[in-house]
Amino acid sequence: MLGHRVAFFLRADNNLYESINSAFIKFRFFDLLKNMEDNIKDLEEFNPTILVAPASVLKEIGKEKINKGINSLNPKKIISVAEVLTDSDERFIKKAFNKNIIHQVYQCTEGFLAYTCECGNLHINEDIVKIEKEKIDEERFIPIVTDFYRKTQPIIRYRLNDVIVSTNRKCECGSSFMVIDKIEGREDDIFIFKSSVEENTDVQVYADFISRCLVYAPDITNYRVVQTDKEHIIVYIDNTEENVKEKIIEEFKTLAERKKFKNPQIEFKEYETEKGKKVKRVERRF
Ligand SMILES: [Zn+2]
Repeated sequence: MLGHRVAFFLRADNNLYESINSAFIKFRFFDLLKNMEDNIKDLEEFNPTILVAPASVLKEIGKEKINKGINSLNPKKIISVAEVLTDSDERFIKKAFNKNIIHQVYQCTEGFLAYTCECGNLHINEDIVKIEKEKIDEERFIPIVTDFYRKTQPIIRYRLNDVIVSTNRKCECGSSFMVIDKIEGREDDIFIFKSSVEENTDVQVYADFISRCLVYAPDITNYRVVQTDKEHIIVYIDNTEENVKEKIIEEFKTLAERKKFKNPQIEFKEYETEKGKKVKRVERRF
């Protein structure tokens, strides 16, 4: 880590990381509540070797890098934290920074749970935590965490509110620690629709399926889907042209047929986020 410059983009209320500065490593914190253009200017000047930020912010920086042709910003390592890294965002960030791997750190107040190895796979830190799987379907599970080192506030069989997608992939890095495919989102953000075949029955739909309804729509770079009740969703997109909306409506119709739920009413709105707030691409609000 000699001579590394680490740039952290974090929300002001985040206290997971403490600042350490030494001759070998320099940290700089960037406040997400500040103007992003100014932040990016400062970032260019700092010229980080490691860039750490929530996925949505990495994407924003990547977009600026492409649009303004900022060639100087080439961190060796990019680490996504605090938000779900969706497949489409990961592809975008890789392309923008010309990287094969976007690293992830999966950390919460309950512990430092997983990180990406040099081969690009996400390993559970099985030397620090034990994760038991509460299966919710063939590939998904809710992690139940036991932390081996916490003594003052022990974490023993603590059920997290996250949905993890598992994989049988073995990693070539040499680590035998459990590999997971991805963190899909919060359990309470799983969408719930009414069944189209059975009365008074609900159908749960995972975030990945919702995201996939958006990724095939042309020319969208940012989206959020919010479910307000079992029959209504709001789609926030940065391109609200008719053909884009039609494509999304069609994708939801196909998904509803496949998963056998009543197709919801879709309302479209201009993409917006609240400054400094965690961006959830897929969110349930009831
Ligand atoms: Zn590995």
